[in-house]
Amino acid sequence: MKKRATRRRIKSPRKRKSLLKKYEKYDRMLDRISRKMITAFMVEVSNTVLPRVLDLSKIEDQQKSKILQDNDTLLTLESLISLAGAVSFGQFNERELRELVEPIYMSMGKEYSQDIARTMVSANPDVLIEPRISESLMDTLKRSTNETVKYLLETQQTAIIGTQKTIGQGIEAGLRWEEIAQKIAPKIEADAYRTAWNRAKFVARNEVSTALGEISKTQQEDAGIELYEWQTSEDERVRDTHRNLNGKIFSWNGIVTVNGTTYSPASDPNYNGGSDTIPGQPWQCRCVALPYFPD
Ligand SMILES: [Zn+2]
Repeated sequence: MKKRATRRRIKSPRKRKSLLKKYEKYDRMLDRISRKMITAFMVEVSNTVLPRVLDLSKIEDQQKSKILQDNDTLLTLESLISLAGAVSFGQFNERELRELVEPIYMSMGKEYSQDIARTMVSANPDVLIEPRISESLMDTLKRSTNETVKYLLETQQTAIIGTQKTIGQGIEAGLRWEEIAQKIAPKIEADAYRTAWNRAKFVARNEVSTALGEISKTQQEDAGIELYEWQTSEDERVRDTHRNLNGKIFSWNGIVTVNGTTYSPASDPNYNGGSDTIPGQPWQCRCVALPYFPD
């Protein structure tokens, strides 16, 4: 079923690594959008919620225990946080986010498809390359854009929930209001925003590598290439399931028989219940697909 590649393959792990490395700039572009988004929320929390929390800190100690059990206080804070979310994320709604994210994917698609074209031609000079971004590549880029926008919208919710939770947990732990105020102060590493920020960074890295994998698939299929060789980055960070796939030949789509040899799509037992996968698709995967031309 799976055959080892023996010929016409590009063997340069160092070169391959630097190829993906240059695409980290797209992670950073998505990161900048997340940072702007979360910062706008922090500023709004600091303008509307923080003063209220600091007011509470001025209340006499004997009254404090009564207020801690006072649900109205909590409800007021929760609704202020929701309001802060609505105000700050209003400028980062779905349409606005798409306008920010789409150009990033368009330039990523252009740059990567040119790199893939070079790889394909160096593997087989006869391969036919589309000079422009094809319709199917455009679809792929739009899908990636939508997916990223969806995750960014979820990150907004994570920031709101994180802030509400931080206050709730602070009260439960018996913290003073001044201490709770510290945890919602406008700092990206503050408790209230840390989860959202970490998640945003994770999403940026993951979405870029998934998109690169899908661009590669689309581009190779557009050129009529049915088979590819799975290549890991051949370092200690490669997961075992992908080390097992390294150097093997797979089909992009369904079972394919070429010159008597049958090829099937790759699968990672730890990804999506072991269903078909492509390099770059599983979380944080840095593997790539090299075009393969059978005899
Ligand atoms: Zn991988």
